[in-house]
Amino acid sequence: MRPMSENHLPTAELQALDAAHHMHPFTEGDALNAKGARIITAAQGCYLTDSDGIEILDGMAGLWCVNIGYGRQEMADAAARQMRQLPFYNTFFQTSHPPAIHLAAKLAEIAPGDLNHVFFNGSGSDSNDTNLRMARVYWAHQGKPEKQVVISRWNGYHGSTMGAASLGGMKGMHKQGGLPIPGIVHINQPDWWAEGGDMSPEEFGIARARELEEMILEVGEDKVAAFIAEPVQGAGGVIVPPDSYWPEIKRILAKYDILFIADEVICGFGRTGNWFGCQTYDLHPDIMTIAKGLSSGYLPIGGSLVSDKVAQVINAGDEFAHGYTYSAHPVAAAVALENLRILQDEKIIETVQAETGPYLKEKWEALTDHPMVGEAKIVGMMASIALTPDKASRAKFAAKAGTVGLMARERCFANHLVMRHVGDRMIISPPLVITKPEIDLLIERARKALDETYAQVKADGLW
Ligand code: PMP
Repeated sequence: MRPMSENHLPTAELQALDAAHHMHPFTEGDALNAKGARIITAAQGCYLTDSDGIEILDGMAGLWCVNIGYGRQEMADAAARQMRQLPFYNTFFQTSHPPAIHLAAKLAEIAPGDLNHVFFNGSGSDSNDTNLRMARVYWAHQGKPEKQVVISRWNGYHGSTMGAASLGGMKGMHKQGGLPIPGIVHINQPDWWAEGGDMSPEEFGIARARELEEMILEVGEDKVAAFIAEPVQGAGGVIVPPDSYWPEIKRILAKYDILFIADEVICGFGRTGNWFGCQTYDLHPDIMTIAKGLSSGYLPIGGSLVSDKVAQVINAGDEFAHGYTYSAHPVAAAVALENLRILQDEKIIETVQAETGPYLKEKWEALTDHPMVGEAKIVGMMASIALTPDKASRAKFAAKAGTVGLMARERCFANHLVMRHVGDRMIISPPLVITKPEIDLLIERARKALDETYAQVKADGLW
């Protein structure tokens, strides 16, 4: 055992150990190991501190999850209390425990519509695996075992397990490990900026929504189990659909007997300015995927919120042969409950909706005055800008997609701001507790990084 004090080893030594032993998610290992990871050692509010003592404004809330901000003592206390009381027990064999019960009841209270039931999971990915199986079992229990196919969207993100990555529409992920698994088909995404051609955003939104109907008819309604989608695509680049998109999808969902699964792993718990993205877009899912903001990332926990209609069928059938050791982990559940209490008591979502969200929107949309910024999109506290060499034609850079985006991300990091890139889109998803002065700082640093990127793009002849 290495002593705890090795936490405070010099940066170079931590990096060497990291390179020798730690394999990172979504990373080219050799390239990172040659360079060395940036080591984050502490965080408070909206700021990270690295191993050299530098403070960085976290424009991504970790990985879209630290909604209440870092360093809340009440969260640590809730975890410690529960660890002393009951650190673990399962809920498999006709047992339950208070944190699971209270969290399930609380979620039923805040969730829209009749999403009154929860199946707990450990993450967003395994929540979507649960949903995939549950949707298929729902139809099988009703004597329709042939209703198995799930329709999803290209460039949607639903996680990294075999099931969730198959539901996702990331072609780069499908290439690795023989995906997608059978019974999952994809339709195109409503990304007007990249794919809208000569259509108006409204026409394009309708056209892309109608692909759902075309796919239902192509596969056959009698074979389709469900449609899954994020209200706003997050990892795909914060793709905010045209206003015409969701109403048309709703019309189609009402016409066919298939389930709708809303993946709210990012959109849930205030990110879009309401408790759930479904409320922002007036959607009525049968199953909702939740994770991330459920515990503000303080501990891993996810869930499938399930409607009365679906729960009735699943509960009445044979045993649902599914579950995880850490389904409803008591410490994670206690921490999630405390997180929900903080979100509610401190009116964090109301503040996003009425004050800080509109403030960020104004500043964010003003970024389109920058020569390299095409569209700026924002819903609540998730936002993106498209980088382009020509706004009018929505042109792509001559360099490989993502080259300029990566440059901009590195300029942000150098200016002590975490902003991510997806291809040549830059995205933010700050903690929901970000204040107006912190928003000003975020925008100031983003502008500086954009100016530096612009200069570099020109110097490198990429313009
Ligand atoms: N669904 C969505 C919409 C997500 O954004 C993510 C994670 N970014 C997941 C599912 C997967 O969640 P996890 O990483 O917790 O498995």
